[in-house]
Amino acid sequence: MSQYQLPVLLYHRIVNSKKEVGRHKIYVFKDKFEAQLKFLKENGYETLTFHDLLKDNSKDWNKKIILTFDDGYEDNYTILFPLLKKYGFKAVIFLVTQKKDNSWGIQEGEPVFRMMNEKQIREMSEYGIEFGGHTQNHPDLTKISIEEAKKEIEGCKKDIEAITGKPAVSFAYPFGALNEKVKSAVKDAGYNLGIATTSGPNPFSDDKFQIRRIEVRPKNGLARFKYKASGYYFQKSYIQQIFK
Ligand SMILES: [Zn+2]
Repeated sequence: MSQYQLPVLLYHRIVNSKKEVGRHKIYVFKDKFEAQLKFLKENGYETLTFHDLLKDNSKDWNKKIILTFDDGYEDNYTILFPLLKKYGFKAVIFLVTQKKDNSWGIQEGEPVFRMMNEKQIREMSEYGIEFGGHTQNHPDLTKISIEEAKKEIEGCKKDIEAITGKPAVSFAYPFGALNEKVKSAVKDAGYNLGIATTSGPNPFSDDKFQIRRIEVRPKNGLARFKYKASGYYFQKSYIQQIFK
């Protein structure tokens, strides 16, 4: 039997055209994305942030959804933000705070994509976009020393709070790479929630520091998107359990 669960969707970049696409399938075309927002709007969905979730005691998450975007690409400001405003939606963006571009991806043959600047981040924060942590330099936190990992995790929280003036409550692990030490470091840094990706050993986690997301892929049609947004994408409840 399936049970409803709050969908947490994962995106990275929103792009206008094929020219802006890199090697990695971490984009969704603007027109496809807008069709997704339109579907959510027409069907009465409300977008939450993790900050909202921590305050929401109703546990009534029917027709609610969390849209998340990793890394903090400039297109999140130039393309995503106007669309969010158009439909009256919010989102959560996980920031890499000490990089001006995607240098970790460039090493793998990805073109250079710029990150948002502080002014853009502040404007989005004032509108109601939540900014969560994603480290300072996007390392694989399981492949560096725990001291270095802590520095990345704590430093990122300070950076975000200095820009937005708001507490950073959520943290997404770069590459979805995590282990118990890394999870503890995120908790110890003062984040309330740790956000994983679609992979990992514990997909249906009941763990506030390993919340699984559903990735929206470039080729997903609207039918596939509806399923991903339905709350029945996984056959097992996880997120309700951790907030009960
Ligand atoms: Zn990332």
